[in-house]
Amino acid sequence: MYPFSFTKAPSTREALAAGRRGGRYIAGGTTLVDLMRETVERPETLVDISGLPLDEVTVTERGGLRIGALVTMTEAAAHRKVRTLYPVVAQALELSASAQLRNMATIGGNIMQRTRCTYFRDVTAACNKREPGSGCAAREGYNRTHAILGTSEDCVATHPSDVAVAFAALEARVHLLGTGGERAVPFADFLLRPGSTPNREQALRQGELITAVEIPAYPRPLESGYLKVRDRQSYEFALTSAAVALYVRGGVIREAKVAAGGVGTVPWQLTAVEEALIGERPSDRLWARAAESAADGARPLTHNRFKVELLQRTVERQLRIVGDSK
Ligand code: SF4
Repeated sequence: MYPFSFTKAPSTREALAAGRRGGRYIAGGTTLVDLMRETVERPETLVDISGLPLDEVTVTERGGLRIGALVTMTEAAAHRKVRTLYPVVAQALELSASAQLRNMATIGGNIMQRTRCTYFRDVTAACNKREPGSGCAAREGYNRTHAILGTSEDCVATHPSDVAVAFAALEARVHLLGTGGERAVPFADFLLRPGSTPNREQALRQGELITAVEIPAYPRPLESGYLKVRDRQSYEFALTSAAVALYVRGGVIREAKVAAGGVGTVPWQLTAVEEALIGERPSDRLWARAAESAADGARPLTHNRFKVELLQRTVERQLRIVGDSK
């Protein structure tokens, strides 16, 4: 560890002022403190926002759901409205981390968490995300868990969040508060692909604070669920995952929302899969045909070619699980 200053923000206004001066926001601290211990991150000032009134889950006027940034993963997963309206969100949260971590970690912190690429966390390794211009040790190193979609020459790391995959599938919006006031950013625009600047991971302006994630309303009943494939059944990040939401009326799929995790540099919305489902009648043949395009555009690395087929199978299986639950 190294010296840093710590201040607890008594109000949102004072938190924003500290953020404008370069302070780093911290709530549960389940990612940031680890990275500080390893000196991967070295913020000079931490601003504790855990006392701010951003800890509610509310139904929006249109029937969607707004989850405050400081709602813990445990609270969100247990919330009756989350479980009944968007089971895919509750399942993604419950399949994340350990119970102890879920009790501490917040929704805002979860979507802000940084990659689990081992080279990123090893300060002796070349890593453009940690140290721009230093190179990418994963490209020529051991890259079994890395991304096959959305990669660049400069970075091939996956985004580690499970619930972010559910948010991406449901086309949630991230509410932000900053000097310019409030704004809402579509989830697909909030997390950035690495391109030539993998060190820049979110579309946040200096000092901006995440206040909530809002999931839009969908026609009901919307069937949804999350499937996570990993090396062991507990405390492990996804090799592949699939978040699926389907609205079927009159025996025909009217809405299909599908995203994948563990394979992209950001949660990966599978628009080709969605398009293959809309207007069709649920069947095993349809699930298999739609899932064939799940890995379109994939660029596998030396050790992660298996993810192409694994992703297709994961998506097919989860389409069947959700589609057959009606
Ligand atoms: Fe760093 Fe990204 Fe390369 Fe990992 S994949 S070493 S995070 S640049």
